Amino acid sequence: MTTIFGKIIKRELPAEIVFENDKVLAIKDKYPAAPIHILIMPKKEIPDFQSLKPEDYPLIEECFKVAQQIAAQYGITGGYRLLTNNGSLAGQTIFHLHFHLLGGRQLGTMG
Ligand code: AMP
Repeated sequence: MTTIFGKIIKRELPAEIVFENDKVLAIKDKYPAAPIHILIMPKKEIPDFQSLKPEDYPLIEECFKVAQQIAAQYGITGGYRLLTNNGSLAGQTIFHLHFHLLGGRQLGTMG
């Protein structure tokens, strides 16, 4: 089912795009939890990390490469967090796989 992110990918909803290629989109989080909060997602509609199939793994590699590039671009290579929430128990609210890249301040402990 198409989500907000699916609509952003199709340009049916606006977003602040910071990176795009044929496989991956990265946008600024609309409600940032840190000074730098970027969402990196495959364009393919995969609901969550647990749904990934082996044939999708190259998309994750691509997302991670983009995360490294964006971290460098934003000058946060000294400290950032890259995470995905898998399922509502983990706090996932948008069921289109995405990775949060958080940085720009001292980050707290997990959990
Ligand atoms: P999650 O809770 O892991 O599914 O992450 C969803 C993220 O999307 C949250 O950090 C929200 O702040 C963010 N978000 C919700 N709506 C939008 C939007 N229209 N554009 C950009 N980010 C959004």
